[in-house]
Amino acid sequence: MRISTAALRQSDARMFTLVVAGLKAAGTRTAERCLTIPLSQMQATLRMINQQGGRLLSVTPADQAPSPPTPAPAPTAANAATAAVTTSAKHETVPVNLYRPKDPYVGTVLGNYSLLADGAIGRVNHITFDLSEGNLHYVEGQSIGIIPDGVDSNGKPNKLRLYSIASTRHGDNLEDKTVSLCVRQLQYEKDGETINGVCSTFLCDIEPGAKVKITGPVGKEMLLPPDEEANVIMLATGTGIAPMRAYLRRMFDPGERAKNPGYQFRGKAWLIMGVPTTPNLLYEEDFQNYLTEFPDNFRYTKAISREQKNPSGGRMYIQDRVAEHGDEIFTMIEDPKTHVYMCGLRGMEPGIDEAMSKAAEAKGLNWAELRPQLKKAERWHVETY
Ligand code: NAP
Repeated sequence: MRISTAALRQSDARMFTLVVAGLKAAGTRTAERCLTIPLSQMQATLRMINQQGGRLLSVTPADQAPSPPTPAPAPTAANAATAAVTTSAKHETVPVNLYRPKDPYVGTVLGNYSLLADGAIGRVNHITFDLSEGNLHYVEGQSIGIIPDGVDSNGKPNKLRLYSIASTRHGDNLEDKTVSLCVRQLQYEKDGETINGVCSTFLCDIEPGAKVKITGPVGKEMLLPPDEEANVIMLATGTGIAPMRAYLRRMFDPGERAKNPGYQFRGKAWLIMGVPTTPNLLYEEDFQNYLTEFPDNFRYTKAISREQKNPSGGRMYIQDRVAEHGDEIFTMIEDPKTHVYMCGLRGMEPGIDEAMSKAAEAKGLNWAELRPQLKKAERWHVETY
């Protein structure tokens, strides 16, 4: 629909009510929903409606708006576990492959700093690229490709490596023109020699001002549901925190909340994070701030493998935390508004399945049957390497 700009020229203090059809709420598409916003947030809200595939039916000054539609009744626990019928963000509106390897975007490095504290194991850096020269944009949960400079052992140009994006669509400076990554330098021993990963070393060593070939974005597996009341359980090992850092910023960062009038998260977000040592915790200060500012909405559980012990006396891994809180996690999953995201080491998957099987069994349910249903309903999101 067209919107008259006559009203928009008036004072920013005025409030408007938008009636929108087809937005997602509680995982289902709502028939109609009213959003009351100040004029200053009009453009951002229209963008959000567009991104979520909604249809704008009317815009009226708030004092003349009709009363909001009655919300649909909440789903009951009885049908919830099998009523795995919700979906994530609208897939067709998510950008993919805007830049391909043959013609990549060339971005400039804006910043590159270590995320680790003194005494940490290895190197993990947060690296930000400028996107202002092109059309590379993305949403939370996607990945980009990086083509490192140089050639491989056969003399051919290096191939691209995919990295999960650690920033929100607005970028760390909220100007919609940057993308950030969280990269661990890969190192392993071969024939008594330390081998450094080609791309991860290229990225960890890169200086601000350098130019980098970027492809993508790609990926629709890890999209965040647009439902502001969703529950989001996040299971991350190490740099698998990247998409979760983006989700949590979108949910709780004050600048993000101001930018996203249509996404004022008020569900429960539970991060279960695995790292080897305390100095290896990533984005810890941000997460502590969210705990302080949103104690009713954010929960944070750590598995610090080389400092904490699991009940059998072994290293504490995130699957041990999932087992410890199995009933609670399972009860949350029975709510159709709950999504689970897993990112990081593939090795965590069997342990998490085992913990979930036990919790399901205790309720007379079969996890092997339930998990594919959750997956089909786009509530069980896995990206592990
Ligand atoms: P890291 O700092 O080494 O931490 C990983 C943590 O997981 C450590 O506490 C480690 O414990 C623990 N761990 C080791 N084996 C485990 C297992 N079988 N189950 C559960 N936890 C286990 O992590 P990192 O080097 O950043 O590695 C993260 C991994 O995620 C990499 O393989 C990376 O490629 C992958 N990744 C994937 C994506 C993606 O799929 N989109 C994105 C980012 C990263 P100990 O070392 O003490 O045993």
